[in-house]
Amino acid sequence: MKKINDGLTPQQRWSKLHPKEVRAKLYKWRKNNREKLNTYNREWENKNKEKRTADLRKWRNEHPEIVKEWRRNSYWKHRDSILKQLREKNSELRHIVISAYGGRCTCPKCPETNSKFLTVEHVGGWGAADRKENGHQTIRLYKRLIKLGFPKTFTVKCWNCNSGAHMNGGICPHVSN
Ligand SMILES: [Zn+2]
Ligand SMILES: [Zn+2]
Repeated sequence: MKKINDGLTPQQRWSKLHPKEVRAKLYKWRKNNREKLNTYNREWENKNKEKRTADLRKWRNEHPEIVKEWRRNSYWKHRDSILKQLREKNSELRHIVISAYGGRCTCPKCPETNSKFLTVEHVGGWGAADRKENGHQTIRLYKRLIKLGFPKTFTVKCWNCNSGAHMNGGICPHVSN
């Protein structure tokens, strides 16, 4: 028999020649030892938290394209639940803001209290300038109002009075007529 001098043990040599079998064996072992593995991994992670975060960060910095791709895939995969969460957050913040501003249309001749008909209005019609500076996202507007403690430069109107005033030089037609 020819002597092979590759520095490997017979077992290592066998493994090298049978990668499929090795993978299958490993897979089976992992499957049978899941609990043990999980515990071990958790313990290892806890012990090496800082190193792990640093390694991850380093890896992310070195592979921006892959990270970008992941984010994109993850967004599309979870799109529905992300949007649902956003909608829920939006309506939660909306409720807080509308209630804080009295929960009803502030036009003196309008009885509207249904929050679905209500909107946040910029007092004195500076909405366009504000949107130009701070963007169109209502969720950001709500967060800002909460953070600022509901400033008097905003109020709540129903859509009707809001757009009516807009087309009537800033005064609701309810009041001016
Ligand atoms: Zn109104
Ligand atoms: Zn009105």
